[in-house]
Parts: sequence; structure tokens; C-alpha cells
Amino acid sequence: MTKPYSCEKTYVGCFGDPVWENPTEVMMQAALDHHGLPVRYITTLVPADHLADAVRGVKALGFKGFNCTLPHKVAVIEHLDGLGASAEVMGAVNCVVERDNRYIGENTDGKGFLESLRPVVDPAGKRVLIFGAGGAARAVSVETALAGAASITVVNRTPERGEDLVNLLNTRTDVPTTFVPWVGDHAVGDDIDVVVNTTSIGLFPDTSRVAVDVRTLRPGLVCADLIPNPPRTQFLEEAEAAGATTLDGLGMLVNQGRIGITYWTGVEPDASVMRAALERIFG
Ligand code: NDP
Repeated sequence: MTKPYSCEKTYVGCFGDPVWENPTEVMMQAALDHHGLPVRYITTLVPADHLADAVRGVKALGFKGFNCTLPHKVAVIEHLDGLGASAEVMGAVNCVVERDNRYIGENTDGKGFLESLRPVVDPAGKRVLIFGAGGAARAVSVETALAGAASITVVNRTPERGEDLVNLLNTRTDVPTTFVPWVGDHAVGDDIDVVVNTTSIGLFPDTSRVAVDVRTLRPGLVCADLIPNPPRTQFLEEAEAAGATTLDGLGMLVNQGRIGITYWTGVEPDASVMRAALERIFG
């Protein structure tokens, strides 16, 4: 049955692809409803040339904020009233929050990743290897650097993109960062503590594998995959078979959503309700 939503509700939105974002919408609304919050989370498809009008509309309608996904994460910045610290370093926003009538851009992707990583391993002082150099890699690597990683190695197929990310990290953070071109099956060095796949390899329906030399995966290594669908990726299966500790992408998806809800409402939502909503969809 459709719930009646009164105009006294608070609204938050998501500018993105409704097909991809539907699981997020279900997860977010499940948490909001679970805590009895009078908030409705709505996903809308915003064409790039309507972005400015969409942000004006959100402000006019008094939304508490909104998430935004590709292709708006960078373009939205010029329409906002300010940026949070890590969003400013990344130059990308995935969560906008109304504070004192000003719409501030935050990035909760990297923060969500760290929240899921910390119960497994504290990144402070750790040597981290990141496969990929796209938007997700940027978010994860900047937050990991700000959390005190000892070093970051970026391995990417396209050298220019990898070098851009390494330059950003070396310029804007104190963590020594190096780029390694991705050629064949990458051998993970003995000195690496944490490996993160931030590429889109393995995202349903893609069945290709992350090119890693499985003989270099070992007990004591933490292997994380950002892919939420399917949660159990081939990379994680290979890492688990080698005795490594694994972390799936659902935790990051849940945590970035939790942080957004806390920013908008002040309430810290129950992660288990959100994860259960996603598991019902992704299996
Ligand atoms: P981008 O398009 O910005 O970057 C994609 C990255 O994947 C690039 O580094 C690209 O390399 C690499 N890549 C893609 N295909 C291949 C391949 N066949 N071989 C080698 N490298 C490849 O995407 P995002 O960074 O925004 O997102 C990446 C993934 O992260 C998404 O699939 C998404 O599922 C996941 N994600 C998960 C989140 C979560 O909450 N769990 C949150 C955000 C993202 P190149 O530069 O060479 O093209």
C-alpha cells in the first residue's frame, strides 16, 4: 500500500540514475521509516543540463539535502554554498546538506568506506594499495590518507588517470603516494597491509576478474571490494581462498547512507536495518 506523505514531511533527494539508485532509495527509506522520521527520500533522474535548475528547485522546496551520483558529483559544486573539508580536497560531492539555509557539499563515500574498514583494521600507519583511479578511488584514497595511512599505491589501467590521483594525494595530503601501471596480474607486495578494489570490475552483470596475482594474497592481508552487487565478488572469493580477511561493498554503501541521514536529521540510523534492505535486493 502506498503511504500518504503529508506536506509537513521533510524531503531529501537523490540526483542520479533511478535504476541504479533504487536499492539506495529502498535502503534509505527503510532506515528513515524504522526510526519514525518524517522524511521522504526521493530519487530523480536529473539530466546534466538541468542540474542548476534542479539545485534551485531543491532550495526553493526546502529539502534538507540530497545525494548526487554520476555525472553530477563534480558539476554540482558550482551550484552550492560551500564544501566540507574532504569534499574540498577531492573536488567531488555525493551528499549535500542544508545548514543554516546554506547548501554544503560533503563526500560520504570515503567516510563510509572508512567506517566499514575500521572494525577490521585501523588504516592509520598501514600501507594501502588501491586498484582504480576513478571517483570512488579518489574518495577512498583521500579519506584513507586523512586517516593517517603510512603510504598509498595507486594501480590503474589508464596511466594519466592514475598519475592525476597520485599528484592530488601528494599535493593535498602528507601521505607518500606512488603510481604503478596495471600490467597483467598485479603482484601485491609483501609490505602491503590493505588492498582495495575501487574499479567497476565485477559489478553485475560484468563477470571479468580483477587482475591480481592470487599467489601474492595471504593471511594477514585485508582485501576490500567496493562492488556492492554482487556483494561476494570473484576478487573477494580469491582473497578468502588465500586466507586474507575480506570486506564487501555493502558496508560502504550502508555507511555512506548512514552518514547522510545523520547529517540531514541528527539521528544515527541502525545499520542492520539498512544492510538487510540491501541484502533483500542484492541477495
Ligand atoms: P569511475 O568510472 O570513475 O572509475 C572506474 C575505474 O575502474 C577506473 O579506474 C577504471 O580504469 C577502472 N576500470 C573499469 N573497468 C576496468 C577494466 N576492465 N580493467 C581495469 N580497470 C578498469 O567509477 P567510480 O570510481 O565512480 O566507481 C567504481 C565502482 O565503485 C562502481 O562500479 C561502484 O559499484 C563502486 N562504488 C561503490 C560504492 C559503495 O558504496 N559500495 C560507492 C561508490 C562506488 P581506467 O581509468 O583505466 O578507465
